[in-house]
Amino acid sequence: MSKYNFCAGPAMLPPAVMKKAQQEFIDWQGLGVSVMEMSHRSKEFLALTKKCEASLRRLMNISDEFEVLFMHGGGRGQFSAVPLNLHQENKSAVYCENGVWSKSATDEANKFTQTTAIDVRNDTDGQFSIKAVADWQLPADASYIHYCPNETVDGLEIFDVPSHPTAPIIADMSSTILSREIDVNQFDLIYAGAQKNIGPSGIAIVIVRKTLLAREGLPKPGILDYALEAKQGSMFNTPPTFAWYLAAEVFQWLEQNGGVKAMEAQNIAKAELLYNFIDNSDFYSNKVAKHSRSRMNVPFWLNDESLNSKFVAQSNEAGLLALEGHRIVGGMRASIYNAMPLEGVQALVDFMAAFAKENS
Ligand code: PMP
Repeated sequence: MSKYNFCAGPAMLPPAVMKKAQQEFIDWQGLGVSVMEMSHRSKEFLALTKKCEASLRRLMNISDEFEVLFMHGGGRGQFSAVPLNLHQENKSAVYCENGVWSKSATDEANKFTQTTAIDVRNDTDGQFSIKAVADWQLPADASYIHYCPNETVDGLEIFDVPSHPTAPIIADMSSTILSREIDVNQFDLIYAGAQKNIGPSGIAIVIVRKTLLAREGLPKPGILDYALEAKQGSMFNTPPTFAWYLAAEVFQWLEQNGGVKAMEAQNIAKAELLYNFIDNSDFYSNKVAKHSRSRMNVPFWLNDESLNSKFVAQSNEAGLLALEGHRIVGGMRASIYNAMPLEGVQALVDFMAAFAKENS
Protein backbone atom coordinates (compact mmCIF):
# COMPACT_ATOMS: atom_id res chain seq x y z
CA MET A 1 0.00 0.00 0.00
CA SER A 2 1.33 3.48 -0.88
CA LYS A 3 1.58 5.75 2.11
CA TYR A 4 1.22 9.50 1.80
CA ASN A 5 2.58 11.83 4.46
CA PHE A 6 0.57 15.04 4.93
CA CYS A 7 2.74 16.37 7.77
CA ALA A 8 3.15 20.17 7.91
CA GLY A 9 6.85 19.84 8.65
CA PRO A 10 9.21 18.11 8.74
CA ALA A 11 7.34 17.16 5.61
CA MET A 12 7.43 14.50 2.94
CA LEU A 13 10.55 14.55 0.76
CA PRO A 14 10.63 13.43 -2.88
CA PRO A 15 11.00 9.62 -2.85
CA ALA A 16 13.58 9.80 -5.68
CA VAL A 17 15.76 12.07 -3.53
CA MET A 18 15.44 9.77 -0.51
CA LYS A 19 16.43 6.77 -2.63
CA LYS A 20 19.51 8.51 -4.01
CA ALA A 21 20.50 9.67 -0.51
CA GLN A 22 20.13 6.10 0.72
CA GLN A 23 22.38 4.77 -2.06
CA GLU A 24 25.04 7.39 -1.36
CA PHE A 25 24.69 7.35 2.41
CA ILE A 26 27.80 5.37 3.32
CA ASP A 27 29.99 6.16 0.35
CA TRP A 28 29.50 9.60 -1.17
CA GLN A 29 31.06 10.18 -4.61
CA GLY A 30 33.28 7.14 -4.18
CA LEU A 31 35.18 8.87 -1.37
CA GLY A 32 34.58 5.98 1.05
CA VAL A 33 32.89 8.23 3.60
CA SER A 34 29.44 9.68 4.09
CA VAL A 35 28.76 13.31 3.24
CA MET A 36 27.97 13.63 6.95
CA GLU A 37 31.45 12.68 8.09
CA MET A 38 33.67 14.89 5.99
CA SER A 39 34.97 18.40 6.40
CA HIS A 40 32.63 21.17 5.38
CA ARG A 41 35.74 22.86 4.00
CA SER A 42 36.79 19.92 1.80
CA LYS A 43 36.84 20.66 -1.91
CA GLU A 44 34.08 18.13 -2.53
CA PHE A 45 31.73 19.69 0.01
CA LEU A 46 32.52 23.21 -1.18
CA ALA A 47 31.66 22.10 -4.71
CA LEU A 48 28.33 20.82 -3.38
CA THR A 49 27.53 24.17 -1.74
CA LYS A 50 28.37 26.02 -4.94
CA LYS A 51 26.18 23.71 -6.99
CA CYS A 52 23.38 24.05 -4.45
CA GLU A 53 23.40 27.84 -4.54
CA ALA A 54 23.62 27.97 -8.35
CA SER A 55 20.66 25.63 -8.58
CA LEU A 56 18.54 27.73 -6.19
CA ARG A 57 19.51 30.88 -8.10
CA ARG A 58 18.30 29.31 -11.35
CA LEU A 59 15.10 27.95 -9.79
CA MET A 60 14.11 31.30 -8.28
CA ASN A 61 15.84 33.55 -10.80
CA ILE A 62 17.89 35.28 -8.08
CA SER A 63 20.10 38.09 -9.39
CA ASP A 64 23.58 39.10 -8.25
CA GLU A 65 22.01 41.87 -6.21
CA PHE A 66 21.17 39.21 -3.63
CA GLU A 67 23.31 37.13 -1.33
CA VAL A 68 22.12 33.57 -0.62
CA LEU A 69 22.90 32.32 2.90
CA PHE A 70 22.50 28.86 4.41
CA MET A 71 22.06 29.33 8.14
CA HIS A 72 21.26 27.48 11.34
CA GLY A 73 18.16 27.77 13.45
CA GLY A 74 15.21 27.25 11.10
CA GLY A 75 12.40 29.76 10.74
CA ARG A 76 12.47 30.90 14.35
CA GLY A 77 16.20 31.56 14.12
CA GLN A 78 15.27 34.12 11.47
CA PHE A 79 12.55 35.59 13.71
CA SER A 80 15.54 36.72 15.84
CA ALA A 81 18.05 37.36 13.04
CA VAL A 82 15.81 39.79 11.13
CA PRO A 83 15.43 42.38 13.94
CA LEU A 84 19.02 41.87 15.13
CA ASN A 85 20.38 42.66 11.67
CA LEU A 86 17.86 45.20 10.44
CA HIS A 87 17.04 47.26 13.54
CA GLN A 88 17.36 51.03 13.10
CA GLU A 89 17.46 53.59 15.90
CA ASN A 90 14.22 55.54 16.42
CA LYS A 91 12.32 53.52 13.85
CA SER A 92 9.70 50.89 14.28
CA ALA A 93 9.66 47.55 12.49
CA VAL A 94 6.25 46.87 10.99
CA TYR A 95 4.87 43.35 11.46
CA CYS A 96 1.85 42.48 9.33
CA GLU A 97 -0.08 39.81 11.19
CA ASN A 98 -2.24 37.25 9.48
CA GLY A 99 -1.92 34.18 11.65
CA VAL A 100 0.00 32.13 14.17
CA TRP A 101 3.48 32.37 12.66
CA SER A 102 3.47 36.07 11.79
CA LYS A 103 2.36 36.80 15.36
CA SER A 104 5.20 34.67 16.73
CA ALA A 105 7.60 36.67 14.58
CA THR A 106 6.32 39.89 16.17
CA ASP A 107 6.72 38.47 19.68
CA GLU A 108 10.33 37.54 19.00
CA ALA A 109 11.18 40.88 17.37
CA ASN A 110 9.70 42.71 20.37
CA LYS A 111 12.59 41.43 22.46
CA PHE A 112 15.05 43.37 20.33
CA THR A 113 13.43 46.29 18.55
CA GLN A 114 10.38 48.49 18.58
CA THR A 115 7.57 46.97 16.54
CA THR A 116 4.24 48.10 15.14
CA ALA A 117 1.83 45.25 14.50
CA ILE A 118 -0.78 45.61 11.77
CA ASP A 119 -3.71 43.22 11.57
CA VAL A 120 -4.14 42.32 7.92
CA ARG A 121 -6.91 39.76 8.47
CA ASN A 122 -10.35 40.52 7.17
CA ASP A 123 -12.48 37.82 8.80
CA THR A 124 -16.24 37.98 8.41
CA ASP A 125 -18.90 35.75 10.01
CA GLY A 126 -16.83 32.66 10.36
CA GLN A 127 -14.92 33.12 7.08
CA PHE A 128 -11.22 33.84 7.31
CA SER A 129 -9.51 36.04 4.77
CA ILE A 130 -6.76 38.60 4.28
CA LYS A 131 -7.12 42.21 3.19
CA ALA A 132 -5.79 43.17 -0.23
CA VAL A 133 -2.18 44.34 0.23
CA ALA A 134 -3.12 47.78 -1.15
CA ASP A 135 -5.35 48.24 1.93
CA TRP A 136 -2.73 47.40 4.53
CA GLN A 137 -2.11 51.04 5.50
CA LEU A 138 1.60 50.73 6.12
CA PRO A 139 3.12 53.68 7.99
CA ALA A 140 5.24 56.17 6.02
CA ASP A 141 8.42 55.30 7.91
CA ALA A 142 9.65 51.94 9.17
CA SER A 143 12.92 50.06 9.60
CA TYR A 144 11.36 47.22 7.61
CA ILE A 145 8.05 45.55 6.77
CA HIS A 146 7.71 41.89 7.76
CA TYR A 147 4.97 39.54 6.59
CA CYS A 148 4.27 35.83 6.15
CA PRO A 149 2.98 34.95 2.65
CA ASN A 150 1.74 31.55 3.78
CA GLU A 151 0.43 30.87 7.26
CA THR A 152 1.06 27.17 7.78
CA VAL A 153 -1.31 26.71 10.73
CA ASP A 154 -4.19 28.89 9.54
CA GLY A 155 -4.04 27.82 5.89
CA LEU A 156 -4.02 31.39 4.59
CA GLU A 157 -1.89 32.53 1.67
CA ILE A 158 -1.15 36.00 0.29
CA PHE A 159 -0.48 36.02 -3.44
CA ASP A 160 0.22 39.76 -3.90
CA VAL A 161 3.38 41.37 -2.58
CA PRO A 162 3.22 44.51 -0.44
CA SER A 163 5.44 47.43 -1.39
CA HIS A 164 6.78 50.46 0.44
CA PRO A 165 8.57 53.57 -0.85
CA THR A 166 11.49 53.30 1.59
CA ALA A 167 11.28 50.32 3.94
CA PRO A 168 12.60 46.91 2.87
CA ILE A 169 10.09 44.07 2.47
CA ILE A 170 10.90 40.93 4.45
CA ALA A 171 9.00 37.66 3.86
CA ASP A 172 8.85 34.49 5.92
CA MET A 173 8.43 31.98 3.09
CA SER A 174 9.00 28.89 5.24
CA SER A 175 5.93 27.11 3.89
CA THR A 176 5.59 28.56 0.39
CA ILE A 177 9.12 28.90 -1.01
CA LEU A 178 9.54 27.14 -4.38
CA SER A 179 5.83 26.27 -4.56
CA ARG A 180 4.99 29.04 -7.05
CA GLU A 181 6.81 31.54 -9.19
CA ILE A 182 7.69 34.83 -7.50
CA ASP A 183 9.70 37.86 -8.54
CA VAL A 184 12.51 37.95 -5.98
CA ASN A 185 13.21 41.57 -6.94
CA GLN A 186 9.99 42.62 -5.21
CA PHE A 187 11.56 41.59 -1.90
CA ASP A 188 14.57 42.68 0.10
CA LEU A 189 14.89 39.59 2.25
CA ILE A 190 13.26 36.19 1.95
CA TYR A 191 13.83 33.46 4.50
CA ALA A 192 12.61 29.93 4.94
CA GLY A 193 13.16 27.05 7.30
CA ALA A 194 13.97 24.02 5.18
CA GLN A 195 11.67 21.30 6.43
CA LYS A 196 8.77 21.79 4.00
CA ASN A 197 9.81 22.47 0.41
CA ILE A 198 13.59 22.34 0.74
CA GLY A 199 14.84 19.37 2.75
CA PRO A 200 15.29 18.17 6.30
CA SER A 201 15.14 20.56 9.26
CA GLY A 202 18.34 22.09 10.52
CA ILE A 203 18.97 24.68 7.86
CA ALA A 204 17.38 27.96 6.87
CA ILE A 205 17.76 29.75 3.58
CA VAL A 206 18.13 33.53 3.51
CA ILE A 207 18.02 35.50 0.27
CA VAL A 208 19.07 39.03 1.16
CA ARG A 209 19.64 42.14 -0.92
CA LYS A 210 23.34 42.95 -0.67
CA THR A 211 22.71 46.62 0.15
CA LEU A 212 20.92 45.54 3.36
CA LEU A 213 24.11 43.92 4.66
CA ALA A 214 25.48 47.40 5.35
CA ARG A 215 23.00 47.88 8.20
CA GLU A 216 24.67 47.67 11.56
CA GLY A 217 21.61 46.51 13.47
CA LEU A 218 22.21 45.37 17.04
CA PRO A 219 24.97 43.36 18.73
CA LYS A 220 24.20 39.77 17.74
CA PRO A 221 25.51 36.21 17.89
CA GLY A 222 27.92 35.50 15.04
CA ILE A 223 25.77 32.65 13.74
CA LEU A 224 22.86 35.08 13.18
CA ASP A 225 24.96 37.82 11.58
CA TYR A 226 24.09 38.17 7.88
CA ALA A 227 27.15 40.23 6.89
CA LEU A 228 29.49 37.85 8.70
CA GLU A 229 27.86 34.75 7.20
CA ALA A 230 27.98 36.33 3.74
CA LYS A 231 31.69 37.03 4.16
CA GLN A 232 32.32 33.50 5.42
CA GLY A 233 30.34 31.68 2.71
CA SER A 234 27.80 30.59 5.36
CA MET A 235 30.61 28.78 7.18
CA PHE A 236 31.32 30.96 10.19
CA ASN A 237 30.85 27.72 12.11
CA THR A 238 30.19 24.15 11.04
CA PRO A 239 26.99 24.17 9.00
CA PRO A 240 24.35 21.40 9.06
CA THR A 241 26.10 19.52 6.28
CA PHE A 242 23.63 16.69 5.75
CA ALA A 243 20.69 19.11 5.49
CA TRP A 244 22.68 21.20 3.00
CA TYR A 245 23.49 18.10 0.93
CA LEU A 246 19.85 17.04 0.85
CA ALA A 247 18.69 20.56 -0.08
CA ALA A 248 21.06 20.41 -3.06
CA GLU A 249 19.49 17.09 -4.07
CA VAL A 250 15.96 18.49 -3.76
CA PHE A 251 16.92 21.49 -5.92
CA GLN A 252 18.36 19.17 -8.55
CA TRP A 253 15.17 17.10 -8.46
CA LEU A 254 13.13 20.28 -8.92
CA GLU A 255 15.22 21.32 -11.91
CA GLN A 256 14.89 17.87 -13.46
CA ASN A 257 11.12 18.03 -13.01
CA GLY A 258 10.33 21.30 -14.73
CA GLY A 259 11.34 23.73 -11.99
CA VAL A 260 9.05 26.02 -10.05
CA LYS A 261 6.71 26.61 -13.01
CA ALA A 262 5.84 22.91 -13.22
CA MET A 263 5.53 22.65 -9.41
CA GLU A 264 3.14 25.59 -9.40
CA ALA A 265 0.90 23.99 -12.03
CA GLN A 266 0.84 20.75 -10.05
CA ASN A 267 0.25 22.58 -6.77
CA ILE A 268 -2.72 24.43 -8.26
CA ALA A 269 -4.18 21.15 -9.51
CA LYS A 270 -3.72 19.46 -6.11
CA ALA A 271 -5.23 22.35 -4.17
CA GLU A 272 -8.19 22.64 -6.55
CA LEU A 273 -8.92 18.95 -6.29
CA LEU A 274 -9.03 19.06 -2.50
CA TYR A 275 -10.83 22.39 -2.04
CA ASN A 276 -13.43 21.54 -4.71
CA PHE A 277 -14.16 18.28 -2.98
CA ILE A 278 -14.55 20.00 0.41
CA ASP A 279 -16.72 22.78 -1.06
CA ASN A 280 -19.06 20.25 -2.66
CA SER A 281 -19.41 18.22 0.51
CA ASP A 282 -21.86 18.76 3.35
CA PHE A 283 -19.73 16.58 5.60
CA TYR A 284 -16.51 18.66 5.58
CA SER A 285 -15.82 22.38 5.49
CA ASN A 286 -12.97 24.85 5.04
CA LYS A 287 -13.34 28.26 6.64
CA VAL A 288 -11.03 30.30 4.39
CA ALA A 289 -12.33 32.67 1.68
CA LYS A 290 -11.34 31.45 -1.79
CA HIS A 291 -8.86 34.26 -2.57
CA SER A 292 -6.91 33.63 0.67
CA ARG A 293 -6.67 29.85 0.53
CA SER A 294 -3.26 28.29 0.95
CA ARG A 295 -2.09 25.94 -1.77
CA MET A 296 0.28 24.25 0.65
CA ASN A 297 -1.71 23.76 3.87
CA VAL A 298 -5.38 22.88 3.68
CA PRO A 299 -7.16 22.89 7.05
CA PHE A 300 -10.57 21.26 7.06
CA TRP A 301 -13.20 20.37 9.61
CA LEU A 302 -15.61 17.50 9.92
CA ASN A 303 -19.00 19.08 10.51
CA ASP A 304 -19.54 16.46 13.21
CA GLU A 305 -16.39 16.91 15.31
CA SER A 306 -17.17 13.87 17.44
CA LEU A 307 -15.90 11.83 14.47
CA ASN A 308 -12.44 13.43 14.55
CA SER A 309 -10.55 10.65 16.29
CA LYS A 310 -12.20 8.00 14.13
CA PHE A 311 -11.19 9.97 11.02
CA VAL A 312 -7.58 10.24 12.18
CA ALA A 313 -7.35 6.54 13.11
CA GLN A 314 -8.92 5.28 9.88
CA SER A 315 -6.98 7.65 7.62
CA ASN A 316 -3.77 6.41 9.24
CA GLU A 317 -4.80 2.83 8.61
CA ALA A 318 -5.45 3.78 4.98
CA GLY A 319 -1.85 5.04 4.69
CA LEU A 320 -2.76 8.74 4.84
CA LEU A 321 -0.49 10.03 7.56
CA ALA A 322 -0.41 13.07 9.85
CA LEU A 323 -3.80 14.60 9.03
CA GLU A 324 -4.62 15.77 12.54
CA GLY A 325 -4.92 19.57 12.63
CA HIS A 326 -2.62 21.89 14.55
CA ARG A 327 -3.47 21.90 18.27
CA ILE A 328 -4.28 25.65 18.16
CA VAL A 329 -6.98 25.44 15.47
CA GLY A 330 -8.13 21.81 15.74
CA GLY A 331 -9.84 19.90 12.94
CA MET A 332 -7.69 18.35 10.22
CA ARG A 333 -4.95 19.68 8.00
CA ALA A 334 -3.49 18.30 4.80
CA SER A 335 -0.10 19.76 3.93
CA ILE A 336 0.51 19.23 0.24
CA TYR A 337 3.98 20.57 -0.48
CA ASN A 338 5.96 20.04 -3.69
CA ALA A 339 6.86 16.43 -2.91
CA MET A 340 3.21 15.36 -2.57
CA PRO A 341 2.04 13.88 -5.89
CA LEU A 342 -1.45 14.45 -7.29
CA GLU A 343 -2.16 10.75 -6.62
CA GLY A 344 -1.64 11.41 -2.91
CA VAL A 345 -4.31 14.11 -2.90
CA GLN A 346 -6.61 11.89 -4.99
CA ALA A 347 -6.14 9.09 -2.44
CA LEU A 348 -7.07 11.53 0.33
CA VAL A 349 -10.19 12.72 -1.49
CA ASP A 350 -11.26 9.11 -2.16
CA PHE A 351 -10.81 8.27 1.50
CA MET A 352 -12.71 11.38 2.61
CA ALA A 353 -15.60 10.54 0.28
CA ALA A 354 -15.81 6.95 1.55
CA PHE A 355 -15.59 8.09 5.19
CA ALA A 356 -18.37 10.62 4.66
CA LYS A 357 -20.60 7.98 3.06
CA GLU A 358 -20.09 5.51 5.88
CA ASN A 359 -20.67 8.05 8.62
CA SER A 360 -23.54 10.15 7.24
N1 PMP B 1 7.39 30.32 9.91
C1 PMP B 1 6.48 29.52 9.35
C2 PMP B 1 5.57 30.08 8.30
C3 PMP B 1 6.40 28.17 9.73
O1 PMP B 1 5.48 27.38 9.17
C4 PMP B 1 7.27 27.69 10.73
C5 PMP B 1 7.25 26.25 11.18
N2 PMP B 1 6.18 25.50 10.89
C6 PMP B 1 8.19 28.58 11.30
C7 PMP B 1 8.24 29.87 10.87
C8 PMP B 1 9.13 28.12 12.39
O2 PMP B 1 10.07 27.28 11.82
P1 PMP B 1 11.11 26.46 12.71
O3 PMP B 1 10.36 25.40 13.43
O4 PMP B 1 12.07 25.94 11.68
O5 PMP B 1 11.77 27.42 13.64
